[in-house]
Amino acid sequence: VNIVDCPCGERIEAETEDELVDAVNQHLDAQHPAVAGHYTREQILTMSRQG
Ligand SMILES: [Zn+2]
Repeated sequence: VNIVDCPCGERIEAETEDELVDAVNQHLDAQHPAVAGHYTREQILTMSRQG
């Protein structure tokens, strides 16, 4: 799966890149509204890793 470890300690996992980008953006909206919408798809995927 595709994984992003958020600096807040939450791990965000998704099967596909599209789902991961959506999940990260939802997490930012919910938990980090100050930076919600600040990351592009490419930036989110650069932060991700395979697990
Ligand atoms: Zn977070």
